[in-house]
Amino acid sequence: MDDFCTNRHAEIAAKVESVQPLPTRHPDLWFSDGNIALVASGFYFNVHSGFLCRHSAPLAEAISALEADNKQARFVEGSVMLELDDKPKDLFRFILALYDGVSHVKFDHEDFETVSALLRLSTKYCVEHIRRDILRGMSVIWPKTLGGWEFREAEATGPTGVYKPRAIYPHPILVIILAKQINTPDLLPSAFYDLSRCSPSEIATGYLPLGSSDRSDLQFLSDEDLMNALRGREHLSRFLSTFVVNELEGRELSLSCIHRNDPDPFRKRICQATFEATTFEILRDVNGVVFHRNTDPLFAIMDADLMQTRGNPANGGLSLSHRACEACRLEFTAAVDAAREDLWQSLPMWFNVNVDSWL
Ligand SMILES: [Zn+2]
Repeated sequence: MDDFCTNRHAEIAAKVESVQPLPTRHPDLWFSDGNIALVASGFYFNVHSGFLCRHSAPLAEAISALEADNKQARFVEGSVMLELDDKPKDLFRFILALYDGVSHVKFDHEDFETVSALLRLSTKYCVEHIRRDILRGMSVIWPKTLGGWEFREAEATGPTGVYKPRAIYPHPILVIILAKQINTPDLLPSAFYDLSRCSPSEIATGYLPLGSSDRSDLQFLSDEDLMNALRGREHLSRFLSTFVVNELEGRELSLSCIHRNDPDPFRKRICQATFEATTFEILRDVNGVVFHRNTDPLFAIMDADLMQTRGNPANGGLSLSHRACEACRLEFTAAVDAAREDLWQSLPMWFNVNVDSWL
């Protein structure tokens, strides 16, 4: 059971002040047989109190308090008013989700405001089924498993191999801020990893939402999370360097290498030469530039393996006339898989995130 309900009393503002002007009916969500008016910043939504009480214990308590103190209560169109301190736009999305469900919600960058509002308000009002359904959708893009991450990355990669996550996924700074607000650390390691692929100056500058040119809209990480992001980025960079040194530079040939005992000195070195060429390509980060994947160790390590089989230099392959033998390549593939799992396992620690379980 989540502990997201623990602060439920503190957040609800059920202020009833008799001198305020009456709010305006919200144009999009109003029921003629409603019996409670939820008021937010001058708008009200006429809805059904029994329905609200069924889904939200904090709202049920606030409604009971109103009924117990009905001398102070204000009415609009015959419905008692419950004032809340939410934005009308967010409250609209939340009430709509209560009545209609969340199957229409997408988890791309265009729907992020909706996702954010639903998570914040379902957490605040303890509506567990909405929170759970939205988090399930979020976990596809911000997964806990390396397999989930591969799937997410494939979805953001075009047919020519060019990777454009920002065209479909929300910016990780927004996700990190939201995950902290709703106390959901599970989303953080993958969001921090995504962010670590930006330059330190981009991470520190913050994110300006699409369509906005107003610098006051810039979204920043907290100082603590900025340090977590930069420190994790350093760990990742060091991990990649260590991988190159340990697994590529001067790599030992497989005991089953078919060239191992070749009397021809050139052929004897084919597998070594392949790994040396791979090292060179990784250090040049050539495919990072071609595929828009700079500073992405999970990609770079996998690419070290893939570039040996792609063949064509124009498609990110090695420009060698020979390839490592099957035995050497299989051993290298195993080392690549192990390194990537090791990296994934380390993300919570490197980014200073406490998660209950990490797969
Ligand atoms: Zn070999």
